[in-house]
Amino acid sequence: MASDLRLPTDKIVRPDKDRFLNEENPFEAMMSRFDRAAELLDLEPGLYKVLRHSEKEITISVPVLMDNGEVEVFTGYRVLYNTSRGPAKGGIRFDLNVTLDEVKALAAWMTWKCAVVNLPFGGSKGGVICDPLKMSVSELERLTRRYTAGIINTLGPDSDVPAPDVNTNERVMAWVMDTYSMHMRHTVTAVVTGKPVEMGGSLGRREATGRGVMFVTREALRHLGIAMNGATVAVQGFGNVGSIAADLLSKQGCKIVAISDRTGGYYNKGGIDIPKAIEYVRQHRSLEGFKGGDNITNDDLLVLPVDVLVPAALENVITSKNAGKVQAKIIAEGANGPTTAGADNILDEKGIFVIPDILANAGGVTVSYFEWVQDRGGYFWSEETVNNRLEEIMTRSFTDVLGLSKQHKVNMRTAAYMLSISRVATVHRLRGIYA
Ligand code: NAD
Repeated sequence: MASDLRLPTDKIVRPDKDRFLNEENPFEAMMSRFDRAAELLDLEPGLYKVLRHSEKEITISVPVLMDNGEVEVFTGYRVLYNTSRGPAKGGIRFDLNVTLDEVKALAAWMTWKCAVVNLPFGGSKGGVICDPLKMSVSELERLTRRYTAGIINTLGPDSDVPAPDVNTNERVMAWVMDTYSMHMRHTVTAVVTGKPVEMGGSLGRREATGRGVMFVTREALRHLGIAMNGATVAVQGFGNVGSIAADLLSKQGCKIVAISDRTGGYYNKGGIDIPKAIEYVRQHRSLEGFKGGDNITNDDLLVLPVDVLVPAALENVITSKNAGKVQAKIIAEGANGPTTAGADNILDEKGIFVIPDILANAGGVTVSYFEWVQDRGGYFWSEETVNNRLEEIMTRSFTDVLGLSKQHKVNMRTAAYMLSISRVATVHRLRGIYA
């Protein structure tokens, strides 16, 4: 590290280092991993302070006229964590459990995720506290448009580019794009990714996160010398990420023995028919009542004796309380933050190979980047080109992180953080501090 590239600063003070860690607070969980990697990188104190803070946090009230004629006021957030490497990139989540701390953690994760796969993006995230399953389509549209109008000053293809996340989808992205375009007085396709293909979306985007999970799982199995054909897999969460990861892994020969969603889980030793389960969810909106396996709980699913566990629902499902019981050889983190910092050491001691979220689920943002590139160039790629380029980036990134983990004798998570933090830090050093 060239000393003239280091930022001048005073003595390092690592806040909260020995304080009791609130395992369930996603921001603290993310920061504890950041701290460990920063220490190993010997990050200079000034830069350490900069990277521990988000650049911008917006909280807005979102009034919505409901179908019954009454007005409800929802709370929405948008956090831009770091934009040193390029426009902020991050999804929008509609969920009752959204908090500012969660959005901040997810925005920071987006920063590290984009850097670990070396995309020219920073990180952001947004969320609205609501229960979309209880809202009509027109209520959701009004909520989305008013939320978009409320954060419009941060949005833009060169500044902040949203994408789908939990409980948002292509249709929601179309409303965001339309609302933004109406304000700008011209159509701006590149302001969001994960849009319908008919209006500037990329082929392969919908499947990209699950496909990325499949690629890194394949690499991990290869690394551990486990044959993909017949490898047993349990997948928690059967939405966009979980269902597609399950489908593609089964097409590669893996046996998906368990799946679940918020309504419960299903176990079948002989393997679950994944296309059938996907069709069931398309018809019934959830797995509730699915007959393809025996009922199990979401907690049971996490501790099944399988080769691969794919947590692809929400955060904090593998904690210090249940990590000791996990029997999988590989955990491929499809969800963001499914493992708490307290669980990391326990999994390490058990020798479980964890492909961390910022690497494992980076396929989505990678194809979002392809979509943004295609929109700006006005020239669209074939699905084969998208998938091949995704494969190249995911396998190269896996190899980069694995190499670093061997070199520094650290686990894959710490190695992924070290790689991404060092990339963000290098740009900060080159740019310096504008005063
Ligand atoms: P989704 O809304 O399509 O699906 C979420 C799934 O999780 C649903 O099947 C839901 O029933 C299930 N679920 C919710 N609560 C649960 C609970 N308590 N127990 C078990 N299952 C539960 O969301 P998604 O897009 O698949 O996202 C899932 C995770 O992947 C999130 O952590 C998200 O941040 C992350 N992620 C998504 C993308 C993407 O491109 N969609 C990219 C990167 C990361």
